[in-house]
Amino acid sequence: MTDAAIAITALHKSFGAFVALNDVNLSIPAGQRRAIIGPNGAGKSTLLNVLNGQLPCQEGSIHLFGRDVTKATPHELARLGIGRTFQISSTFRHLSVEENVRVAHLARVRRVFSPFPGHLRALKDAVAASLDDSGLSQFARVRVSDLSHGDRKKLELAMALATRPRVLLLDEPTAGMGLAERQELMDLVVRHVARDNLTMIFVEHDIEAVFRHADLITVMAAGTVFAEGTPAEISTNPEVQRIYLGSHAP
Ligand code: ADP
Ligand code: MG
Repeated sequence: MTDAAIAITALHKSFGAFVALNDVNLSIPAGQRRAIIGPNGAGKSTLLNVLNGQLPCQEGSIHLFGRDVTKATPHELARLGIGRTFQISSTFRHLSVEENVRVAHLARVRRVFSPFPGHLRALKDAVAASLDDSGLSQFARVRVSDLSHGDRKKLELAMALATRPRVLLLDEPTAGMGLAERQELMDLVVRHVARDNLTMIFVEHDIEAVFRHADLITVMAAGTVFAEGTPAEISTNPEVQRIYLGSHAP
């Protein structure tokens, strides 16, 4: 059996006396597109924050392609292939789109980067390719503070992908976007994921997008995994409908 991309065992996370994650167990095979859904406060963002090392893991273990990364720092996890976007925008607002993407590429290559012409050219090409891939070429010189919300979300994706992740974590990638923009962004995400054979874990409130793009759905509530199943199974699970989907279930 091959190792899961991500294997989480008996994960606990507390903030003071408040238990945000309680005995979370998840196994996500390589190449899978896994959605995490659940009501506000369920622990979805906390889970992603632990997975990328931003929050320390208090109890339990995390393995990345079979390697124990329970104690790894965000920097180590990024180097080992965890890439992510945030629920709250994480771009440099006063830099241009191109400069932001360059920063993300430099974060990846800085250990081998040198200011020799060959490296500079490779960096320039990589930045241009990222902009092109994400449909942002025409905004290369635009300051991030002048971008539309949707284009900023595209930029965040381009920056996460510039780190060349093997596992892409997305926290509400389409939050605050209109329907057409949401579909465009999710199509962009899944195109990259398929092309680069990435494992994808996404937190998303847009249930249509979840059902369309997830191979498997994990439902969280109050810090625990409440249910797990295919879109067909989750959409017909009465308990899930009751706590989360309400009348939106197909
Ligand atoms: P979700 O993303 O599912 O909406 P979160 O993971 O952001 O939920 O939060 C889960 C719970 O943990 C919430 O009740 C939230 O208030 C709490 N929480 C999250 N981060 C912190 C923190 N840094 N300090 C204290 N409580 C937190
Ligand atoms: Mg959240």
